[in-house]
Amino acid sequence: MERRTLLRGAIGVAGGFALAGQAVTAGWAGGAGTPVTLVGDTSSGGHYFPYPAGLTRTPFLKLPSGSTRAAGWLAQQLDLDRTGIAGAYDEVSHFLVRADSGWTNPARGGWEEVPYWLRGLAGLAGVTGDAALRAKLRLWVDGIVATQQPDGFFGPGALRTSLGGGPDFWPYMPMLQALRTYQEYSGDTRIVPMLTRFLRYQNTFGASVFNQSWGRVRWATNLDSVYWLFARTGEPFLLDLADKIHRYSANYVDNVPSYHNVDFAQGFTEPAYYALRGDASLTGASYRTYATVQGTWGQFAGGGFAGDENIRTYQRDPRQGFETCGIVEYMQSFETMTRFTGDPSWADGCETLAFNSLPAALEPTGHRSLHYIVSANSVQLDNRPKTQGQFQNGFAMQAFLQGVDQYRCCPHNYGQGWPYLTDNLWLATADRGLAAAMYAPCTVTATVGSPGTTVTLTEQTSYPFGGTVSIRIGTPAPVAFPLYLRIPLWCSNPTITVNGTAVAVVAGPAYVAINRTWRAGDTVAVTLPATVRTTTWAGNGQSISVSNGPLTYSLRIGQNFVRRNDPASTWPEWSVLPTSSWNYGLLPGTFGVQNTGATGNPFTLDGTPLAMTAQGRAIGNWQADGENVVSTLQPSPVASAEPTETLRLVPMGAASLRITSFPTIGGDRDWQLPATPSASHCFAGDTVTALNSGYDPSSSYDTSRPRFTWWDHLGTSEWTRYTFATPVRATSASVYWFDDTGHGSCRTPASWRLEYLTDAGGWAPVAQPSGYGTGVDAYQTVRFTPVATTALRVVAQLRPGYSGGILQWRVAATPAPVTPGAWYRIQNRHAGKVLAVSGMSTGDSANVVQFADNGTADHNWRLDHTGNNWYTIVNQHSGLLLAVANMSRANSTPVQQYHDNGSADHYWQLAGDGDGWYRVRNRNSGMVLGVDGMSTADGAQVVQYEDNGTADHQWRLLR
Ligand SMILES: [Zn+2]
Repeated sequence: MERRTLLRGAIGVAGGFALAGQAVTAGWAGGAGTPVTLVGDTSSGGHYFPYPAGLTRTPFLKLPSGSTRAAGWLAQQLDLDRTGIAGAYDEVSHFLVRADSGWTNPARGGWEEVPYWLRGLAGLAGVTGDAALRAKLRLWVDGIVATQQPDGFFGPGALRTSLGGGPDFWPYMPMLQALRTYQEYSGDTRIVPMLTRFLRYQNTFGASVFNQSWGRVRWATNLDSVYWLFARTGEPFLLDLADKIHRYSANYVDNVPSYHNVDFAQGFTEPAYYALRGDASLTGASYRTYATVQGTWGQFAGGGFAGDENIRTYQRDPRQGFETCGIVEYMQSFETMTRFTGDPSWADGCETLAFNSLPAALEPTGHRSLHYIVSANSVQLDNRPKTQGQFQNGFAMQAFLQGVDQYRCCPHNYGQGWPYLTDNLWLATADRGLAAAMYAPCTVTATVGSPGTTVTLTEQTSYPFGGTVSIRIGTPAPVAFPLYLRIPLWCSNPTITVNGTAVAVVAGPAYVAINRTWRAGDTVAVTLPATVRTTTWAGNGQSISVSNGPLTYSLRIGQNFVRRNDPASTWPEWSVLPTSSWNYGLLPGTFGVQNTGATGNPFTLDGTPLAMTAQGRAIGNWQADGENVVSTLQPSPVASAEPTETLRLVPMGAASLRITSFPTIGGDRDWQLPATPSASHCFAGDTVTALNSGYDPSSSYDTSRPRFTWWDHLGTSEWTRYTFATPVRATSASVYWFDDTGHGSCRTPASWRLEYLTDAGGWAPVAQPSGYGTGVDAYQTVRFTPVATTALRVVAQLRPGYSGGILQWRVAATPAPVTPGAWYRIQNRHAGKVLAVSGMSTGDSANVVQFADNGTADHNWRLDHTGNNWYTIVNQHSGLLLAVANMSRANSTPVQQYHDNGSADHYWQLAGDGDGWYRVRNRNSGMVLGVDGMSTADGAQVVQYEDNGTADHQWRLLR
């Protein structure tokens, strides 16, 4: 009789109960996952180091590193890692010079960089079996082992006292994981005794080493190693240490102790890990804190959250970033949660990160440069700091760099990503079976059944780029064991056959168990049909993202990879500039998925095997800010009069530039142009930036967001002002008044009017206003005779004895930087010269230069709007268009004139800086107009260059 045993009944609840699934999947809009039900005999706990008494056994067990070998696209990524940052960063990182590192030479310094990098290197050496990588790691390990002191301490001597006089154990956490992985694939007998001595040393300390600094919120990582060692030694002191860690480290049970993205990605698991000591209810705490953070700040596709690098309360837009460290730590957390809880939803979460955000974090063709943050919406990757609070960090985080010092943690830490995923594709089970927890092309070799047979399962699939998985069993003799296959949460109608015969299935997220006697050549065919799904992000203005199976899709934006460092270097660094419009909203309708036929690197625009078409329209007012950061989303649906276009979408992981959270098109609500707000007065506890923060208040007493008030001015005449980056054409304005009747002394004003800034610099009321409403709980809209201006203001007369405020102020306006048909001179700010044609030529490919403003006809240009804020720029003398030589996308390429043949280099955009000066951006290169060498001379060549803020990139229009 087949013995069917519920794991939770047999060996205790490892996790997964009422909370499972619904909370895990909140961040990616899935259904409820139910924990795996093990169908075999769980009395042994499994072949691979089940926990001895003192820890609750887990449904899944990690196979030794290297048991699973990648094939197909995954092997390709690992091979790029081998010669990229993960395997070869010691060629460029000064932290990784072995002779200079305190980890092998305790008199020297050392902290987290070497442990981070060795953890990834060990994983890569483990899963690839690459002899050179293993030899490189072995040299490090030999050096590290030799530093161990009689009391168990090892590594940089200074770490013994660097944390308030006691040891800083944080950098040891990744180091212990590196040594574990090494031990798993090598069997080196020095490691278990070494870790035992070290953790015994760790256990001699009291609260102060657990409740300080980075380690305080990251002890889950250490707890995992304590358990690993306990499974191998059964040393009772390790349980004391586990208890101490839980008692003294940061409280994640009913609290989020850190809003730092990496801290949280690592640390939220602590209660669930500690639950294995006996209090199963603690598992729910990890689910709850995860749901809190992901549900609030993870309101976009890709699986991460807005933490760049700390979470900020109201910065939840998809332009916010998630640190590369956060991606790989979250993946590791989800992999461990998968093993401990048996909840399939964590594997869904890990796949989401691995297939979408992880490949987006680095330059895809060489894996030799990466960036600090990945954003769901990101339209330019450059190395300029963003100074207007776009991100929590002030340093430049977006260009693909080696970043040894600028990024530091991320490139050292990145390497665990793909190897750890590979090591967790297949898991051993507590009933001596195997589980396909995640899918990718690979082969796994493991011991199964009772007493134990070594089998090899060959998994053929292109997953996530295809939905069929074929698993062929290799075994020396027939062997009975249960095989578990995860059904992803997005899959409602899977089919599974064994040797062609269908087996019973369920919809995801779930595991399907097949418990039988397997023979060599048996084949399991899994079909996971994917359907296109749209997810609506209520927390980000009802924006939508589009997914197909485990892949989320992004707008395909043209990319100009601009080399940043010496072209001869074998370690290239890059900026990435957009070479097409990206400001699109999607129309409801069908999405067409296409196989591209490409067979290259799937995480590149040219190599992705999948693409999608969608219908959309440009939203002209949606622009990058003055520092080339995509501006934040506004509530959908959004009105657009632009033509409907067929857009091309590609998997997010293949798009270095991307829009992944889209506005939807519809209705009559305009997208607000960015404007700089100011006011006659603002209460110190309020902010003028609340005026156009971009939400719809629920009432005039909506206190959910920061607001603007004139408090404590009573009965006065006050104003608020918007200044636009370019001249605009405005047609209406809407004010949502703040009114705290019953709570305070702010009321709607006695009266108000709208004024515009005139060409002469004065203020004038708009003509023929439709009315100035002072009602509550709704926008008060005034329409007026369209006006061209650079600024508007609301002038309000407050009621006697009362103050007032505005929750949101909307203006219907479009950019109007030029007068149609007018001829302009285009003057350079740095040189004071104007744009001209060399020798007043009328020929194609004549160079465009700067020259003193002397009135010749070749100094006159006309800007013709062609839609979506793109202009052609026509020379009056020649009739030819401003163009870039040979359609080049390189820095310093000469700008020329050419006849109108529709090529992309003939289109330019004016990026206003609010002071009358513009950067003139080329569509084909993403670069801006500048003067070669910043020359101030007559006849100096005008060129294109990456927008790096120099004064020769600023121009103004003179009539
Ligand atoms: Zn980092």
